[in-house]
Amino acid sequence: MNHPAPPPTAPAQAEAFLAAAAALLGPRGLTSDPERMDAWLTDWRGRYTGRALALASPASTAEVAALVKLCGEHGVPIVPQGGNSGMAGGATPDASGSAIILSLRRMAAIRSLDAAAGQVVCEAGVVLQTLHEAAEAAQMRFPLTLGGKGSATIGGLISTNAGGTQVLRHGTMRAQVLGLEAVLADGSVLDLMTPLKKDNRGFDLKQLLIGSEGTLGIVTAACLRLLPATTGRATAWVGLNGIIEARTLLRQMERAMGDALEGFEVVPEHCLSAVLAHQPGARPPLDGRYAWNALIECVSPTQDSTALRDALEAALAAAFEDGLVADAVIAANDTQAEAFWALRDGISAAERALGPAMQHDISVPVEAMPEFILAATPQIEAAFPGTSVAAFGHLGDGNVHFHVLAPQGAVRGVWEESEGKAVSAQVYDLVTQWGGSISAEHGIGQMKVDALARLHDPAALAVMAAVKQALDPAGLLNPGKLLPLTPGA
Ligand SMILES: Cc1cc2nc3c(=O)[nH]c(=O)nc-3n(C[C@H](O)[C@H](O)[C@H](O)COP(=O)(O)OP(=O)(O)OC[C@H]3O[C@@H](n4cnc5c(N)ncnc54)[C@H](O)[C@@H]3O)c2cc1C
Repeated sequence: MNHPAPPPTAPAQAEAFLAAAAALLGPRGLTSDPERMDAWLTDWRGRYTGRALALASPASTAEVAALVKLCGEHGVPIVPQGGNSGMAGGATPDASGSAIILSLRRMAAIRSLDAAAGQVVCEAGVVLQTLHEAAEAAQMRFPLTLGGKGSATIGGLISTNAGGTQVLRHGTMRAQVLGLEAVLADGSVLDLMTPLKKDNRGFDLKQLLIGSEGTLGIVTAACLRLLPATTGRATAWVGLNGIIEARTLLRQMERAMGDALEGFEVVPEHCLSAVLAHQPGARPPLDGRYAWNALIECVSPTQDSTALRDALEAALAAAFEDGLVADAVIAANDTQAEAFWALRDGISAAERALGPAMQHDISVPVEAMPEFILAATPQIEAAFPGTSVAAFGHLGDGNVHFHVLAPQGAVRGVWEESEGKAVSAQVYDLVTQWGGSISAEHGIGQMKVDALARLHDPAALAVMAAVKQALDPAGLLNPGKLLPLTPGA
């Protein structure tokens, strides 16, 4: 199940490697200056800090391929990195200082955009926001977005199979990738860029690389799908009669709004209160307060906003008659819609201000999520007195952020390493008992390696280890991430 840890790089070997890498990449492509590397040695959440032999920033697929080959010859481990905005410590090297960070940020070209075909070819370092802007300029849209869009790169999004707030309608990154180019551990280039709608030549290797977190290859480019830009938008904030009713409302909205339904998020009252207290200028969307709220987003590439709002209003009126909805408001314009989303997106920051918390990005089958929340919340709060659960987010995807806030007075940085670890173990046990996943969106990185090894199906882990062994026998691609290492093997 484990794969071998790469042998430590001896100093003389490191010197020889650095000289050869510098000759290959030139001064813009390689640095071992601690100051220039510093920002890239700690993860986004500030949980992990490592050391690196060098920061390599190749400018082309050919340079990536030559560099990976060189690393193989010198036994130098590689930690691929895009925007370093991942949530699981996957892009942070370990403390040994033997690995290089291979940054894809210089490979940031949009190679081509074909609006008629609905396709864009991007290098791995293109930032998501840049892709959105390029698509918009061509009256198109890339149907995946998330809070880290100003930093997250296409390579990182593919390697973590990122989701976001439009998965309900458009799927995760897996559904957006039509073609892929990657460099394998031996330095060969896997060219799967032709966007074939039908292709039955055996295994789908691009899907194997998607979500592999840099452990099977370095993504250098991708062909992604684009959709026509939207012409109408309707956004509602809904006070619900309960979390079970949320699921029934979701199903009614799917029937009533069809393809227009793009997002269905849930927000419990205590999360809303925290945001209202923390976010300057935030206002409650409804006069009354409800234990559970839903944020519903509908868009259309053909209908205008007035028609879409009318349809959403009629659907909500029917849900009110059915006893699902206590109150609702539809945003009058984009500014109001963005204000609703700011309440949803502000939860994590508001929660941070309340004290330490353990965050769990988990999924269970969509149909089971309300019951899971209702069962797991009192179990965790009873097992760890003083804690409180905040479950919010993508109900329509069967994925909530199941956060457990520490008891009052708990010390940040201490509680997480003591009781917090036991809390997470119990949450992951519960999720597994419910047939769910301990990582719905953010990947495994270094954060959840132990939990995955403990809880995932042994047969699935054995297949993953066999694939890793076949594609990266020396274990040089992102060691210690996703799959456990065998020390000294
Ligand atoms: C504010 C905020 C909100 C977010 N919200 C969501 C959300 O709603 N849904 C969601 O799914 N995610 C969310 N994320 C996480 C998001 O998915 C990641 O930030 C993103 O996918 C990582 O992109 P990156 O370029 O920063 O990758 P990095 O953080 O640099 O790397 C992430 C992983 O991918 C590997 N990697 C990076 N580039 C490559 C490459 N070219 N080839 C091979 N491996 C590579 C790294 O080794 C690492 O294992 C959020 C992040 C932030 C900061």
